[in-house]
Amino acid sequence: MTTVKDAQKQAESPQPADPDRLRQLAEEAGRALEDASALDVLRWAAETFGPRFCVTSSMEDAVVAHLASRAFPGVHVVFLDTGYHFPETIGTRDAVAAVMDVEVITLTPRQTVAEQDAEHGPRLHDRDPDLCCALRKVRPLEEGLRGYDAWATGLRRIESPSRADTPVVGWDEKRQKVKISPIARWTDADVEAYVAEHGVLTNPLLSDGYASVGCAPCTRRVAAGEDARAGRWAGFNKTECGLHL
Ligand code: SF4
Repeated sequence: MTTVKDAQKQAESPQPADPDRLRQLAEEAGRALEDASALDVLRWAAETFGPRFCVTSSMEDAVVAHLASRAFPGVHVVFLDTGYHFPETIGTRDAVAAVMDVEVITLTPRQTVAEQDAEHGPRLHDRDPDLCCALRKVRPLEEGLRGYDAWATGLRRIESPSRADTPVVGWDEKRQKVKISPIARWTDADVEAYVAEHGVLTNPLLSDGYASVGCAPCTRRVAAGEDARAGRWAGFNKTECGLHL
């Protein structure tokens, strides 16, 4: 019988762990860590997966990267550079790399925006955002995560109905990896308190009417009372880029 200890041992090795063992580990840890603090969840991830664990960040803020750097100094922070980011987002990434004890890994799509325009026509994001996200986000992340057994996100349950059931530790069936959302239970006030207490870097656009920051062509400011993600892909029946589906 596979035990948690066996799965942890395999996950700690430099080779990819067996998916069945990782799945069992995710299920057991999901139950055990549901009420744990975000820092304790990340300490568990660091001890369990070591260098086969990374954090992903959209550079909306650096809360999870900051937490992870406390649990695992030098942790890899993976950023998807779609070629469509606001300058403020790239600036936030560069500031995180400069001042935090993390290693920022920037992933890029196979094609530049110009190459994509040549193949699919300009402004694919206006005509087929699902395909654009698949090419510029989903595929690069799948390729970039191949060297890891577990990844952490900044997903929070209150962000949108589609994120309401986000587990703190779960199984990413699509990528066959452990998916960790250490601040899944956090409220907006929890985030603000952590940012204030630790002086965490945040994207300047959050102070300029944007409640959620994604690619520039697909992000607008939100009005008072609107859902935080209402400014993403406005006009489309789309709320997620596919990274978390
Ligand atoms: Fe393309 Fe918009 Fe998706 Fe960015 S968010 S990858 S620009 S469709």
